[in-house]
Amino acid sequence: MGGFAFEIQLCNRTDQGGNATKDTNKDVLKHQPDNFLRTTPILELVSRPNSGAWTPSRDTGDHGGRHMVSHNIVWVHESPNYGNLTWDHFQTTPMPLSTYLMAFIVSDFKNLTVDDYLSVWQREEALPQANYSASIGLKVLRALEDYTELHFFLPKMDEVAVPDYQSGATEQWGLVTYRERLILFVEGVSTSAHRQNIATVIAHEFAHMWFGNLVSPKWWDVLWLNEGFASYFEYFALVEIEPDWRLEEQFVVRVAQPALSADSVNTSHPMTVDVSSPEEISAIFDTISYSKAAAVIRMMKHILKPEVFRKGLNRYLHSVLLTVQVVRIYSSGVKMMKKGYKTGNSSADAENLFDALNEQYLEDLNLHDINVKTVMNTWTLQMGYPVLTVTRDYSSRRVTVSQERFLLRPAINGTDTHDYKWWIPLTYTTKSELDFVDTETKQWLTATEESKQLTTPIINQEDWIIFNIQETGFYRVNYDATNWALIAAHLNSDSFEQIPPVNRAQLLDDVFNLARAGFVDYTLVLQMVKYLERETDYVPWYAAFNGLNYVDKRMRGAPSYDYYAWKRFILKLLNKAYTTLGSEVKDTDDHVTKLFRNQILTWACNLGDYACVSNAKQRFAAHMSDPYNNPIDPDLKTVVYCTALRHGGVGEWNFLWDRFITYSNVSTEQTLLLGVLGCTGDEDTAHSYMHLSLSKDSGIRQQDLSLVFPSVYNAHDKGVDFAISYLQLYYTNISDYHNSINSVVSLVSSLSSTLTSEVQATNLRKFVEDIKDDLGDLAYASALNSLQAAERNLQWLETHSATIAEFAKEQNHRLPTAVVPDSYTLKVIPYFEVDSEFTFDGEVVIRINVNEPTDRIVLHVNQLDIVESSLNITSVSEGTQLTVINTTLDTPRQFFDIQLEEELVEGGVYDVKVIYVGYLNDDMAGFYRSYYKVGEEIRWIATTLFHPTNARKALPCFDEPELKAKFRISIARLPKYHSISNAKRIETTTPNTTEDGRIWDEFEETPAMSTYLVSFIVSDFGSSSNLAGNVSVWARESAVAQAAYSVSISQDTLTALEHFTEINYQLDKMDQAAIPDFSFGAMENWGLVTYRENLLLFDETVSTTANRQSIATIIAHEFSHQWFGDLVTPDWWAYPWLNEGFATYFEYFIAAKVEPNWQLDQQFLVEVVQNAFATDALDSSRPMNYNITYSSEIIGVFDTITYDKAGSVIRMLEHVLTSETFRKGLSRYLKAQSYQTTKPDILYSHLQAQHSETVGSDESVNVKQIMDSWGNQKGYPLISVTRDYHAGTANVTQKRFLLRPTSDTSDDGFNWWVPLSYTSRSEADFTMTSPAVWITPSDSQLQLTGIGGSGDWVIFNIQETGYYRVNYDAQNWQLITNQLNSDQFDVIHVLNRAQLLDDSLNLARAGILDYVSALDVTSYLYRETDYIPWYSAFNAFNFLNIRLRGASPAGYQLFKVIQIHRLIQPTFLILNSTRYFVNCRER
Ligand SMILES: [Zn+2]
Repeated sequence: MGGFAFEIQLCNRTDQGGNATKDTNKDVLKHQPDNFLRTTPILELVSRPNSGAWTPSRDTGDHGGRHMVSHNIVWVHESPNYGNLTWDHFQTTPMPLSTYLMAFIVSDFKNLTVDDYLSVWQREEALPQANYSASIGLKVLRALEDYTELHFFLPKMDEVAVPDYQSGATEQWGLVTYRERLILFVEGVSTSAHRQNIATVIAHEFAHMWFGNLVSPKWWDVLWLNEGFASYFEYFALVEIEPDWRLEEQFVVRVAQPALSADSVNTSHPMTVDVSSPEEISAIFDTISYSKAAAVIRMMKHILKPEVFRKGLNRYLHSVLLTVQVVRIYSSGVKMMKKGYKTGNSSADAENLFDALNEQYLEDLNLHDINVKTVMNTWTLQMGYPVLTVTRDYSSRRVTVSQERFLLRPAINGTDTHDYKWWIPLTYTTKSELDFVDTETKQWLTATEESKQLTTPIINQEDWIIFNIQETGFYRVNYDATNWALIAAHLNSDSFEQIPPVNRAQLLDDVFNLARAGFVDYTLVLQMVKYLERETDYVPWYAAFNGLNYVDKRMRGAPSYDYYAWKRFILKLLNKAYTTLGSEVKDTDDHVTKLFRNQILTWACNLGDYACVSNAKQRFAAHMSDPYNNPIDPDLKTVVYCTALRHGGVGEWNFLWDRFITYSNVSTEQTLLLGVLGCTGDEDTAHSYMHLSLSKDSGIRQQDLSLVFPSVYNAHDKGVDFAISYLQLYYTNISDYHNSINSVVSLVSSLSSTLTSEVQATNLRKFVEDIKDDLGDLAYASALNSLQAAERNLQWLETHSATIAEFAKEQNHRLPTAVVPDSYTLKVIPYFEVDSEFTFDGEVVIRINVNEPTDRIVLHVNQLDIVESSLNITSVSEGTQLTVINTTLDTPRQFFDIQLEEELVEGGVYDVKVIYVGYLNDDMAGFYRSYYKVGEEIRWIATTLFHPTNARKALPCFDEPELKAKFRISIARLPKYHSISNAKRIETTTPNTTEDGRIWDEFEETPAMSTYLVSFIVSDFGSSSNLAGNVSVWARESAVAQAAYSVSISQDTLTALEHFTEINYQLDKMDQAAIPDFSFGAMENWGLVTYRENLLLFDETVSTTANRQSIATIIAHEFSHQWFGDLVTPDWWAYPWLNEGFATYFEYFIAAKVEPNWQLDQQFLVEVVQNAFATDALDSSRPMNYNITYSSEIIGVFDTITYDKAGSVIRMLEHVLTSETFRKGLSRYLKAQSYQTTKPDILYSHLQAQHSETVGSDESVNVKQIMDSWGNQKGYPLISVTRDYHAGTANVTQKRFLLRPTSDTSDDGFNWWVPLSYTSRSEADFTMTSPAVWITPSDSQLQLTGIGGSGDWVIFNIQETGYYRVNYDAQNWQLITNQLNSDQFDVIHVLNRAQLLDDSLNLARAGILDYVSALDVTSYLYRETDYIPWYSAFNAFNFLNIRLRGASPAGYQLFKVIQIHRLIQPTFLILNSTRYFVNCRER
């Protein structure tokens, strides 16, 4: 730094753009203890002009001068006669200054001046970069003037961008100096983070004009009066200038929370602290004097209320002012303004501040409950801060709070006997109250109280309570386990946003730190953190990243598979925020969104998220090839550069280094580049980079040297290794360059805090030992000291990593998607003959495709013994074998993790060969054994049931439906058996080829299919086939004769499905097998359907009509799966209704084509629709689309909702679209998705397309909108019809139907798209099932006109095709009852008679309709001879029968007499009553 040796920098700031370490200003040592003595300088400077005229600093006019002179105060005149030099004379400063606030600069800088008042000075070529700071600077100055009601005391303000500047910025009065990047901003190059840095630094320095310059602390012990207020106004002066920056919230996560963190160690210090030596003074330019002070100042503001606080501050400023004349200069010219401030002391201590605030407090609020000084002394004279512990008594509903000092690590053998207690302002709210706005202190926990029971609140047991509203108090809060659990549950619900972002951030920051300090365990942290899956707000994520960063660094040292699971967990948490923000900067993005995206992408890319990494790499490659046409948005640069370097080579690095050299004019860009150049993944490149920073002519300015090493070791875990190896090789270069071995020690210290593994720690320790002699005793001791930090971290790992890894694994039951299977070649030898061990030998070769580079293959394995030595992974194209370095069996997830030495190449094809032994258990899952008896002889068979997740018991595989692959299966068997599988057998070897004379059967390769549909059976079964020989039923030999019926309808059923779908059955043959032990009814394996015996075999002599119907319908069900499920498969178990709903529908409607006389379409109503109504009317129901977290939950979703509700909703959709559109739409869908997977939206889009093709554009039917209302909500509507009999109108409303209505308001908000169809007595047209009108979710009610005459009944929901119930007004019910109880009861369609019975009895059961009316409806039954209405009636009576038994005996008797006995006429008994008992449907 040339020029004047008078180099004083006081104000040093946190560098927010770079690393979090706060470098305190060493130059403060140059201060003398008498710095604060004030004088009134009169300055005259002389300088040598090169040419032209002198120009005063405030002159914006044309000037050719090369040397400009700036000083705190306005230039007055020049006197040119001093040899060839010229004198510049400046005004006397209008008030005494502390010497450290005096400044003058001589340069050839150019200035940009706004309002003839504020000028920014910089190198000429950087002139355009001053626009932003000039405009924001003026606004900040005005805002501070408004806030303090004190005009800035000088007639001008100069800001100077100094190319080499040791500190961030310095607040000389009227002449503030900055590092270039903290004041110069280039649109299109500088980032949003730079912009915010510039604005906040200016606000900070300008605040010092009042806090520090106008009023200076008496002594350094209250340095915080300077820096605390400056740090406070850094954010709060800008709140109204940049309203969308959310600075009040940013303050909490960027200032208050880091302050809490810094202040939670033993070595902290009080805000007000005795200092005497220069070293001591230097040491307190730290987070406590800046950030903690700012946070405590904010707390004061909320204790006193903002306006009282502001007035109190002004009182404080005024109380210490001298009388001065204020000079203001406007563009109109010089204007003098006089202020008559009272004479006073212009230096202050904390008491002046507290007294002023207290006076204001008393004056404005007239409250005496606190004394500001008493309260604030506990915060300023003690180090540290409290953790408030909240304990609730849930039975008395009382809350107790207590305080203790929060320490991350309690001192061992601590000598500190001070009794730490604070005056804690308590603010809180509860789940019922949800008031996160009011920050007024509700109660105090005083410094004399360790704990106390709060007078209020008394809160409900199920409510949580949250303390420290908006985190205005400088303390942490811990709760009892129940309250934490209530908070965690709320965060993990859809209502999490009821807690505002800043308190979400508070909860996260507190819980992370409480866990570190041992107050709570990490399971709680993870349960809280899990809610981030929903979080898309910057502020909570900011806090979360701080906490996650600590855990992530530690977890990197965990076993590889554990860290892998942790990484997947974090990526899962990031997913929503990542998807919401996207990886492109949008025009509509606000400032915070840009900051947020950068942060989210940084994490995603650092954790190796494939989409993030490949996007960054592509962007960078494009940019490298044509920088001009492919610019990178400033706010993406750090991510894109760093990712490209990490995954790239020397070329990428050189490109960015060249850019660094080229951009010497733009400081923001240069420092950004220095921060990312260390991201390189190449050790030599990292070393060269560190070398460059030790070379004088590298182009890296000395002020920026400190960016280089951290950019290497903070970039990623390999970076730490690079830095250690650099130290080992070149530590002398470092000490030579800095002329001190201490620079090596300080690097060791920085590295220690980033170490993650034992190996790294050992290496670093070895290094320290090796250079022990060079270090000398003191430095050696200091280095060892910092190594202890590393060891503590490793201890943390030992204590916590297992818990964290297990939780992380538990969160992800899905396979990673980096590799996917293409085909399986499977060879199996089962041993199940009598006296065998019931095992099987397996060998599988899985051909995989690599989607993303990865060093691991994760497969499903369950209960298989892998022969580890047989693991063989080869590259198909190269023929090379890859080295397996580790395998892990994650038993709870049934994952088998194979870790490789090198990465699989993206786009590569590999074969994974595994040899294993499995077990033929009798658990009816996987490849299992079953038996039957012939006489006393046991005959064993080996068969499979893989649905839903049991293929992994038969072979290592990717056992998720989405991961379709081809299967080539070979099975070895003894000659007395035979084998069948999905595909047809193509080859059979002769005996003697394997041991025991086994024979290999080889099957044709299947089409791509899901694992759960694979099947093979080895047995001695016989079979019966159709004439063509391609449809066979397999059963034990003696039962083969009973297969006649199933064989006879099988081909017809397939044909009916082929006609319906317009797609041929895709396999060459269809086998069906009757298995003696089978856990389901039947299973739709592609080409090899398996059944429970009684559902496939029919003995004419014994079996019933019901059996016959079961067989026909179940075959229809399983065969329809060959299309819906096998050919087109839902990609995940979240919507198995896409399989089972259709299979249930076709179970009736396809079987009806094979057995047309069975009224199966009518039976569907009572057996399926009304059955679904019963289950779905309970609050415990669930939506059809239902995501599941764990594999163990999969089987649970195969329930009435998946089968019957979905089948019913599908039937409704058929009637909405009309049968033919529905059929064609389905055909279209199946054709498009053949051999692929599906999800509901895909189905909807094809149906929509077909609908549009049929009727043209029709905005009234939006299939997705309609179906989402049925698929995503549980339950169904009750339609209420209230008629106006004079007007001929009807009012229609919808409300969720619940059998047992709850008082819980959570039932509100259920609304559907309901297709309404209806007819009346005079019309009596029960054929029009398509909707006459819709009631939509937004219709609170619907008015229909022309609804029959006054004597007409109306009936809604023709043929009950809609999935809803209907209630009417009493008169309409009466009219309906009258019709039913007449000889013309059959004017009403049989399905609507069944509907009226089912609806009325269930409405009565729910208390919506009285039983008298409901039973009136049933009274017609003595005329009824049709099975269908009777079925409905019996279902409802069954309930009454059971219930009324528990009622009064008289009531029950009455019921039995008037209903059952009276109604069951002989006519009914004549019916085929057995059909009633078909109710046990199986699939
Ligand atoms: Zn099924």
